[in-house]
Amino acid sequence: MEHLGSAAPPNMDANIVVAGRGGVGKSALTVRLLTRRFIGEYGDIQSIYSHSFTVDGREVTLNIWDLPYSEDSLEKTSPVEKKLQWADGYVLVYSICDRASFNTVSRLVHAIRSTKDYPNGDKCPIVIVANKRDLQHRRTVLSEEGWLLALQTDCHFYEVSVAENYHSVLMVFHGLVDRMRDAKLAMKRPMGLKGIVKSMSAVFARRRIDSL
Ligand code: GDP
Ligand code: MG
Repeated sequence: MEHLGSAAPPNMDANIVVAGRGGVGKSALTVRLLTRRFIGEYGDIQSIYSHSFTVDGREVTLNIWDLPYSEDSLEKTSPVEKKLQWADGYVLVYSICDRASFNTVSRLVHAIRSTKDYPNGDKCPIVIVANKRDLQHRRTVLSEEGWLLALQTDCHFYEVSVAENYHSVLMVFHGLVDRMRDAKLAMKRPMGLKGIVKSMSAVFARRRIDSL
């Protein structure tokens, strides 16, 4: 939609990659944002979703890529590097019960920082998410470790339970939008992805069929 008058803030359109090891809750996080629901099992959904909401009178559209994890992860070349180029911002997820997933996020954040920061010194927006905080009895990664990593690498940090709390999921994405706005990425380019954006209803229709 066109905005009228100079006072109206421009709309914002940004690409976000959600990355991290398998099983940490990437799909749960993405689906929670889009539907407010936690459905428990997500299979190997790998999709780009489009989600719009309003922040301070500005319509924000996020194209969110729920990226499957492969052992080589994001650091390696070609298709994966393209994914990194596509992204304007990152949500890097680990589970507080999975030390290896924390190590992966640590590697990813350093890989992104070494390739994606802007020549003018601005940092590419990254949010680190420690998930499954409802599973305290199985915790192997301290909150302090997450905070320290975020502090050292200039990222936002949230510890959340996607299973128990929708609001904290919203905070994650709003935090990222704030960061992207600061990085002046608004209106960076028109959206060219409509063709591959899958609607959630299609995903759920398929899953319902799968589970019959
Ligand atoms: P992905 O492989 O990173 O996409 O992980 P999924 O989203 O498929 O989640 C993996 C498993 O962790 C699923 O069984 C989810 O139900 C579960 N899960 C995700 N988030 C949470 C959470 O906050 N708490 C708990 N207890 N389980 C979660
Ligand atoms: Mg998944």
